[in-house]
Amino acid sequence: MYKISLITGDGIGPELSDSAISVLEKIHDKSDLKFDITKLSAGDKALEETGKALPDETLETIKKSDVCLKAPVGESAADVIVVLRRLLDLYANIRPAKSYPHMPALRDDIDMVIVRENTEDLYTGKEFSLGNASVALRIISEDASRRIAKYAFETAKMRDSMRKVTCVHKSNVMRVTDGMFAKSCAEVAKEYPDITFEEMYVDACAMNLIRQPHQFDVVVTTNLFGDILSDESSQVVGGLGMAPAANIGDNFALFEPVHGAAFDIAGQNIANPSSFLLSIKMMFDWLGSKHHDTKCFDVGNKLESVIFDLVKDGIKTKDIGGDKTTTEFTKEITDLL
Ligand code: ATP
Repeated sequence: MYKISLITGDGIGPELSDSAISVLEKIHDKSDLKFDITKLSAGDKALEETGKALPDETLETIKKSDVCLKAPVGESAADVIVVLRRLLDLYANIRPAKSYPHMPALRDDIDMVIVRENTEDLYTGKEFSLGNASVALRIISEDASRRIAKYAFETAKMRDSMRKVTCVHKSNVMRVTDGMFAKSCAEVAKEYPDITFEEMYVDACAMNLIRQPHQFDVVVTTNLFGDILSDESSQVVGGLGMAPAANIGDNFALFEPVHGAAFDIAGQNIANPSSFLLSIKMMFDWLGSKHHDTKCFDVGNKLESVIFDLVKDGIKTKDIGGDKTTTEFTKEITDLL
């Protein structure tokens, strides 16, 4: 029995959470894999009701669970996810971008993953005013850079792909911080002679994601660049509605969609739940590896192939050119599981 903590979030978060619960309950009923799901509050609504975007009780429950699922939260996102990443040392943010058939993607042969450093850079919140200037500290350490580089190379090693790591930075301008990041990645690369290593400036990477996205395999980069590039890579394969993500540490992991709370479509039953459900597939892979539980891999692969087949048959939500509502699309999935 796996204990899953689930932050239901703001905006489209509760709709995606309902979809996730239906799918998990179906898996619970139909397979040997058993879950105990605890719904938790965090985000704008929690802030309004309790005065804290990340209530203590939510944090304590997450710590006692095996894994956390997090639907998107609104304006208070930095007080929830950025804090959770730091407190739980979830140092690797994994954001895959993969072409699915019949998707509004730029090409049908894209299969890449962004490995984003998750604990440093401009996300440490060290900002202050100095006279009439506003200052933000950009912190990049050698330890964190080497740790994320190692994670990227291990990812490339395990993937059935071109085995290439692209280190993305801007060391020609930020010579000290990104210089350190690039140097650390290049040093780690020497430990992986079978994996091709290349460096790319972030502006060139943004362009190449449009020009030749199929050339990328694993991209390793710093926190802010990773955030921006992963929204771009999601759009390149068809949109944020299909974009899952994982936040991984040595002992714990949290899974969430790449996108935010999408208030523009909240409450309309039109959100694409695939981003969250594919995050659940990533959760199964992580649980499978951690607990040497092959059932997890089987169930995760089944979930992904069901979504893949539905999309291939044109059964889709509105954001990717279909006409299914969130609940209708979820039902199509649960019927096939
Ligand atoms: P944040 O800054 O918190 O990441 P954002 O301002 O980038 O948020 P998102 O909430 O990520 O905005 O949404 C960007 C656009 O993508 C919106 O127009 C939204 O409707 C659309 N979108 C995001 N997620 C989904 C989804 N699951 N299904 C359909 N459309 C989505």
